[in-house]
Amino acid sequence: MRIVVLASGSRGNAVVVEANGTRVLVDCGLSYRQLRTRMAPHGLGPADIEAVLLSHEHIDHVRGLEAFHKQHRLPVVGSEGTRKALAGRVAVEPLLRSGQPLTQHGLEVLPVATSHDAAEPIGFVFTHRGRRLGLVTDTGTMTAPLVECLAGCTALLLEANHDLDMLRLGPYPWPLKQRIRSRTGHLSNSQTRDALEQLVGPELQLVVAMHLSQENNTPDLVRAELGRVLAGSAVRCQVSSQDHSLVVDLPAPAQAVGREGALDSRLSTPDRPGGGPHPGPRTPDWG
Ligand SMILES: [Zn+2]
Ligand SMILES: [Zn+2]
Repeated sequence: MRIVVLASGSRGNAVVVEANGTRVLVDCGLSYRQLRTRMAPHGLGPADIEAVLLSHEHIDHVRGLEAFHKQHRLPVVGSEGTRKALAGRVAVEPLLRSGQPLTQHGLEVLPVATSHDAAEPIGFVFTHRGRRLGLVTDTGTMTAPLVECLAGCTALLLEANHDLDMLRLGPYPWPLKQRIRSRTGHLSNSQTRDALEQLVGPELQLVVAMHLSQENNTPDLVRAELGRVLAGSAVRCQVSSQDHSLVVDLPAPAQAVGREGALDSRLSTPDRPGGGPHPGPRTPDWG
């Protein structure tokens, strides 16, 4: 299984999950042009994607969806709530039901409800040849069902949206601060650390912090906070970025060369000119 985090953050989210010769895109929060540009260095193009899976309908997760769908007419899969929220824009197949596993184009997917102020938001656990990948962002709290489903994962891509002090002292208007830290907002670094305390186990090899706020967090704060749980363990910690892609390889145990089952992940160099972030001011964490 290979995972390419094309972008993660409040300006756009898109992750390619590749296994068994199949590639699905989780969320399409980049413009079509951005998507193409960011896929290219990884040997990918939009035509390689067989389906889009949606976590929820917020703009940072669907910004490029209509254009992408118009070009490639590929299946778009989400929850019933997401289908209703996007009705009239893109036809969503409402196949994602929390707790009900399904196979999408040869890839096993377990959808799990998140706690977020969207219609029916979803997180994911992907399984392929004994490797489990948990991908959960945009949740105000790590619910018991989420923790249960994420236990035993090989890699966890988990939201670490904000540092509580930076959010409290930062420039956002009070209602937005309240929304972000609510039970249906976004996970703080300390919430993610608490969740990891329950999730670190013998199978876990890598944690990737996702959906960092550009105003209310820094990669160093995330690493320090998660390091309080991961220090001394063999689990590696990486931080995703709005502006750079990140690749994670999860070889099946039999395929691994060298260290058995060794996991490889790397941050790519900054995207080439034209492939960078949207120009203009930073945007608040509406998504
Ligand atoms: Zn979001
Ligand atoms: Zn959202």
